[in-house]
Amino acid sequence: MPRNILCFIICLLLCIMLAGCSDGSDSESGNAIPSITTTLGENPTITFDIGESQTVAFRVVTDEPVFQSDFAVALSNTEIADVEYLRFSDGFAYYSIKAKKQGTIDLCLEIPTLDLKSETVKIKVTETIPNNIYVSLGEAPEISIAKEGSKTVCFRVGENISQEALMPVIADRDIVKAEFERRSGAYFYYKITGLSKGSTTLYLEMSEYGVCSETITLYVVENSSSLGPDETTAAYIGNSESKKFHKPTCGSAQTMNSENKVVFDIGTDRQTVIDMGYSPCGNCNP
Ligand SMILES: [Zn+2]
Repeated sequence: MPRNILCFIICLLLCIMLAGCSDGSDSESGNAIPSITTTLGENPTITFDIGESQTVAFRVVTDEPVFQSDFAVALSNTEIADVEYLRFSDGFAYYSIKAKKQGTIDLCLEIPTLDLKSETVKIKVTETIPNNIYVSLGEAPEISIAKEGSKTVCFRVGENISQEALMPVIADRDIVKAEFERRSGAYFYYKITGLSKGSTTLYLEMSEYGVCSETITLYVVENSSSLGPDETTAAYIGNSESKKFHKPTCGSAQTMNSENKVVFDIGTDRQTVIDMGYSPCGNCNP
């Protein structure tokens, strides 16, 4: 065999071997099996609270270039969470998931044109469920209200609870009405107005969780003179703005802007008021 031909054959063999080698090293990226995998490991699950958002990345391996329009998100229930496309970069597709409602749903990312599908991601939306609703009036709560007068009652419910989840339940709606006034963190304030003379009961219900507050007994008296001023029916007067509480006889309590005035009726435990975030006034030392 002539020397140059032998040389050619050796070169050819070397080339084939080198090509084979580079083929092998490329197989991890270029020739890998097309797939979509989540970066969440096996049995992928995301757990979050209502209102929270999390970004989820999917690793996308394909032989062909893909674009945003190629992706399709399959979500088993769109009431539980929203999914929004963020970006596709370096082979990863990023989606933002926002939890809306308590529940569990399945999420899957697909490229229908390539018949690719990711594992199913379980999205669990949880909520810190308060196991009780506390009323700021202590045990066996009672309130007296003058007819056409009103008082504010505060319930401690929970930070994650929306006002829509709460319902004041009144035994006799001819005697009082209850209106939502405002919330401050975990505390919800309701304005109770006396409509006609008599007595009835009220509690705050969160039917979705089967949770109720204690029952408050409400007495509506004919006129405020038989009821007396706040001084005689209130244990403490709180200021919802300054978060201080006073003896009803304190000058600060008497000159307080009525918008900020929170009346804690007789029977309200001092510690209950403190637990609600109020601190005692330094002048009257309630
Ligand atoms: Zn005071």
